[in-house]
Formats: sequence, C-alpha cells, structure tokens
Amino acid sequence: LTDKLQEAFKSLKSKGKISEDDVNRALRQVRTALLEADVNFKVAKDFIARIKEKALGEEVFGSLNPVQTVVKIVNDELTELLGGTQSRIMIASKPPTIIMLVGLQGAGKTTTAGKLAVYLRKQGKHPMLVAADVYRPAAIKQLQVVGAQIDVPVFAKEEAGANPVDIAKEAIEASTHMLKDVVIIDTAGRLAIDEELMNELVNIKGAVHPHEILLVVDSMIGQDAVTTAETFNEKLGLDGVILTKLDGDARGGAALSIKAVTGTPIKFTGTSEKMDGLEVFYPDRMASRILDLGDFKSLLESVQGAIDEEEAKEMAKKMAKNNFTLDDFLSQMQQVRKLGPLQNILGLLPGMGKIKDQLKDIDMDSKEIRRIEAIIKSMTKAERTNPNILNGSRRKRIAEGSGMRVQDVNRLLKQFEEARKMMKKMQSMRKGKRGMLPKL
Ligand code: GDP
Ligand code: MG
Repeated sequence: LTDKLQEAFKSLKSKGKISEDDVNRALRQVRTALLEADVNFKVAKDFIARIKEKALGEEVFGSLNPVQTVVKIVNDELTELLGGTQSRIMIASKPPTIIMLVGLQGAGKTTTAGKLAVYLRKQGKHPMLVAADVYRPAAIKQLQVVGAQIDVPVFAKEEAGANPVDIAKEAIEASTHMLKDVVIIDTAGRLAIDEELMNELVNIKGAVHPHEILLVVDSMIGQDAVTTAETFNEKLGLDGVILTKLDGDARGGAALSIKAVTGTPIKFTGTSEKMDGLEVFYPDRMASRILDLGDFKSLLESVQGAIDEEEAKEMAKKMAKNNFTLDDFLSQMQQVRKLGPLQNILGLLPGMGKIKDQLKDIDMDSKEIRRIEAIIKSMTKAERTNPNILNGSRRKRIAEGSGMRVQDVNRLLKQFEEARKMMKKMQSMRKGKRGMLPKL
C-alpha cells in the first residue's frame, strides 16, 4: 500500500501546481492502491470521494499549494477512517471486569487472551483466564499452557459435557475468592460462522453480561475480516476488534475497512505469536505508518509549516487592527484541533517559548473545543464581535442555547481573554524586537 501511495504522490509532487485532472489522476492511483491493499471496495470509493470533494471544494489553508492540500486531506481522512481516536478497554467500576473474546477458529483468541492478561497486569490489574472452548480437549490444554507461561490462573472444567455458559458463570463467581478483578473468557470458534456457535456466544453473553465483547480477527483473511466483523457485530454487539497477525500482513486493508463498515473500533493489534505481541491501536499512528515514507513525511511537515505561517499572518493582521474577536478565537481553536496541542504550534514560532509555557495550563482537548464551538455558535454576530456586551442575561441565554452551563460560558470568556492578552503580548514583542516573529 505504502509503495503505491508514495508513487501516487510522487507524480503529484513533481509538478508545482496541480489541476483538477491531476487530482483525479492521483486519486485514481490512491484508489487502486487501497483496493490492492484489500480495502473494501465501497470504503475505498467513499474515501476517494471525500478527499476529492475536499480537495476541489476548498482553496484551503491559504498558503498551502494544491499538492500540500491533497496530502493533508489524505492524512486526516485516513486517520478518521481508522477510527479517529484511540479506544480504550472499559474497566468495570465494580470488579470483576468481564472480557469475552470471540472469533473464528485460528483467529488468535487463545493467544490473545494470554496477551491481554499480560497487558492488563502491566496496568495493575489481576487477570484470570477462562477456558470456555470445550469442544476440543486440546483447546483447554492450550489455554492452560498459555496461563502457565505467563503465570496467570486458568479456570477450566475438564470433564466431558461441561457447558460453556456454566463455566463462564462459575468462573466469575470464583474470581472473587481468587482475588482476580479481570476475567478473560476464551470462547470456541468455528471455521465459518454458524448458527450453533452464535447461539452459544449469545447465551454466554446473556449469562455473564461482559463489559467488553472483543472480536479477534485474523488480518490475513483480508476482506473476509470485514464480513466476519459485520456478522459478529449484528449478533453480539461488539465493543471492539483485535486485529491479529499484522506482523504477517503488511497490507492492512482490513484495518481500514472494519471501522468504516461496522462502526466498531479496533482496540488492539497482534504483532507476534509471543505474549508481548499486543499493541494498543492508535488510528493516527496507523495512518502515519501507512503514509510514513521519506517523501510523504517531508510533505506533511511542509504542510504543517505552511499552516503555521498562514496562521501567524492572520494573527498579525488582527493584532494590527487589535480586533481579535470570538470568531477568530473559534477559528483558531478549530485550527488547533486539526494540528494538535496549541503549545506545539506556538513552539514552532521563534520566540514563543515563554508563552508556550504559560499555555500549558489551558488543556485544549477536542471535547473542550467542541464545547467552545457550541457556545460561540449560540452567540449573535454582535456578541461575537464585541464580547464586552455579554452581560448576565445574554450569558444565560447562550448557555441555554448551547446546552451548557453559565459557568461554561464564563470559562470560555476567560479563555478568550487569555488568548486576547496573548495576542497583545505577541504584538508588543513584535514591535519591541524586530525579527522575533517570522516576516509578516
Ligand atoms: P484461536 O483458535 O482463535 O484460539 O487461535 P490461536 O490463539 O490458537 O492462534 C492460532 C495461531 O495463530 C497460533 O499458531 C498463534 O500462535 C497464531 N497467532 C495468534 N496471534 C498472532 C499474531 O498476532 N501474530 C502471529 N504471527 N501469529 C499469531
Ligand atoms: Mg483457541
């Protein structure tokens, strides 16, 4: 995949400017690359359509050239397609946390059960494993071997005819005496999805109400991984997916499609047969890994640089007029959301070190930014341009209109004041010492 993408972008990069035709040609290549990586056809098609719409619809980011624009959009969209943000394992407020692993035979459930136990133990948890795959004697033995290897107890019933639902229930009762706060249930699989297996899994679910039902799926099966995920999700309601054997499949097409098609986040990836071969899944890192190649990386960096420059220019204009409004504040925050922490952006401007430190306290995560968005959008144009008129009753109206509390509105106005002060500071710095800011 990466090679193909790199090729696609090389052809873009070699020209100074790109036309609509160039965008089309490049995107055709991206599309081919995605399909060759075994990305679901519809997912690839939607992906391309979204990029095209964005690339052609906007003359985005002022000083970016069209190539840089496409590059940035591909990167953002790829991250989005992979799930946007990292998804965590839900830990029950009242132990034990019950995790149920499901999936086809050979997907890696038993191995992953062990890996997950190791991972959770590192987080300070006390896991135990449950052998609910009763159909093959070897399956129980395999889990016991895994448990012994990592020194985690395994709850099993070896007599013939034991029922997986009972085993799961008993295991959870036992967890309390055993002082275990996480119960990981390793279930049976089949070579293909069948009714009987699904019923059994539904019954286990009904009996123990797992906090997390995680589908373990082999990335090597490509497109089939998506179908598998869809079916399990329909029947069981998945909380997440663990994509195994990514060490063997460099194409990663399944990762791209599963989230898009099922809406279920990928939470971990399996990267070896060993017990430490489990990695938390970060969509942005996966996107970068796909796009992370010499040429592409430097392109991305230049995009970042260009946005900062544009931002600085805009700010300077506002400062000159000294009319930094709430609209500006909002667009700045939205910019920040795209780029990462405000500190980082300011860190890129020379001479901004001090201000950067002061900003550490303002933690602008994306939830916060959405809140800011909601509040500012509930204001009238006049209020946004001239926040001084925001008296008590206006604030109350805005709070109601945006579904926030008056405190939230007040906090936002305080943050805005901070930002305005900062603007002033930057302005006087620029006046005082020439050359501290980039040429504007
Ligand atoms: P189950 O039938 O779903 O319980 O699958 P198993 O846990 O028995 O795994 C089937 C095979 O896949 C075993 O040989 C594992 O060692 C192997 N396996 C599982 N996860 C990974 C992984 O992330 N990478 C690699 N390379 N092999 C894996
Ligand atoms: Mg197994």
